[in-house]
Amino acid sequence: MAKLPLHTQFPSIQALREALGSGALSATELARSALDAIEGQAGLNAFLHVDPDLTLNQARAADETLKAGGAPALAGVPIAHKDVFVTRGWRSTAASRMLANYTSPFDATVVSRLADAGAVSLGKLNCDEFAMGSGNETSVFGPVRNPWDHNAVPGGSSGGSAAAVAAGLVMAATGTDTGGSIRQPAALCGISGIKPTYGTVSRLGMIAYGSSLDQAGPIARHARDLLELLDPMSGFDPHDATSLERCDDEPNAPGRIRAGFDAALARQQRNGSRPLEGLRIGVPREYFGAGLAPDVAQAVEQALRAFESLGAIRVEISLPRTELAIPAYYVIAPAEASSNLSRYDGVRYGHRSDSYTDLEDMTSRSRFEGFGPEVRRRVLVGTYVLSHGYYDAYYLQAQRVRRMIANDFQQAFAQHCDVIMGPVTPSVAKSIGDNREDPIADWLADIYTLGVSLAGLPAMSVPCGFGAERPLPVGLQIIGNYFTEGGLLAVADCYQQATDWHQRTPGQQ
Ligand code: GLN
Repeated sequence: MAKLPLHTQFPSIQALREALGSGALSATELARSALDAIEGQAGLNAFLHVDPDLTLNQARAADETLKAGGAPALAGVPIAHKDVFVTRGWRSTAASRMLANYTSPFDATVVSRLADAGAVSLGKLNCDEFAMGSGNETSVFGPVRNPWDHNAVPGGSSGGSAAAVAAGLVMAATGTDTGGSIRQPAALCGISGIKPTYGTVSRLGMIAYGSSLDQAGPIARHARDLLELLDPMSGFDPHDATSLERCDDEPNAPGRIRAGFDAALARQQRNGSRPLEGLRIGVPREYFGAGLAPDVAQAVEQALRAFESLGAIRVEISLPRTELAIPAYYVIAPAEASSNLSRYDGVRYGHRSDSYTDLEDMTSRSRFEGFGPEVRRRVLVGTYVLSHGYYDAYYLQAQRVRRMIANDFQQAFAQHCDVIMGPVTPSVAKSIGDNREDPIADWLADIYTLGVSLAGLPAMSVPCGFGAERPLPVGLQIIGNYFTEGGLLAVADCYQQATDWHQRTPGQQ
């Protein structure tokens, strides 16, 4: 029988693939022990919906392909999905009372692509309600606990995904990032995560929050495992109008990101003992201002030195509108949310109030009962900034700022650097409940991730150390220009070959 947590046994998806391929272990056996481990770790509150029959059917199918030969790349690999991806079979709730009993008639493209690649889904993962939050505390099903410290938040909104990977319950998980929701929980749980360029991964079947920002990506322990998921889940989807058909001159198809990774890796290998020779790292001075905790700054500084010793060159840059990303994002994202969430009206699907007087009363009661306070706050803000008289003052203005922020990044890449590095979050994970009285504190903590989302750029988080006061994980953010996901993963991989932060697991920091 396979022992769990998975990270004690398999350092990578590649290692697990070899064990499964050799017949030393069956996918069914592995799925059974993962299901047991999930039950054993129920206190984390990472999983919202588990269905052993569905999981074991997938595992048995994977075993058949493994036995027959020619199994797909992820055959038998245990993963799980953030509960904003709709799934046939498992409930799809977006961690909201509004969708508490909702079952989708179809699978999100991300879900079906990973299933086609042979991955076995262990179920659905807790998250912030409709992905609105930074600490996974807005879920109607209760907060997720950080495996490193059960009193700390795991980060949000993909907190269940990060906690499940950090606890070794799955090899990898899907997440979504509208303003930081893959990078932040990855950072706070000591694992890795990547948000690709907007349009790389299909949004079909991703429950919409801010459509011009939402992008899916994987969370896993290290860059190589991220590649194993991101490559097959990406690619043009004719059913998503915002999905890209081409990235620069290349088709947006599985294989593109892997090819980018392989090419960058080959370059690094040619450079011998200084694999990153000549790589220019832009370090934005605005990312190291007064709001950054000294221990996070120190861990990031240490990582930058490690990159220099691998041959990279540090260049100070300026992203002058960094602070403006917060107001711009918290106008645009709620505006889009208010429009996306108008479909939950108590008529078509979702929660309907038991008692009402007329149609208007039914809609308003259903929405009041179905949405939690943070979602209601966003709908109100969004409706306000889109309303007559305020549209020009807020929404249009925010769109102008968005364009300027994107231009600042473009200028940095055109003139100064190949990648940008800095912190992901201003501090290590806060305690559960710390920010409950003050929602704005959570919004301000998004300062280092929102600009990237507004610009639609790819960015990732890799573990780079621990806090001083509280020994909780710190993440390093690596930002690239459009369509450079493969290169970013190779840069992260180079760092991870030289350091061991990604190998630390809860209980042994
Ligand atoms: N914290 C941000 C928000 O609440 C980002 C969330 C996300 O990326 N889904 O909007």
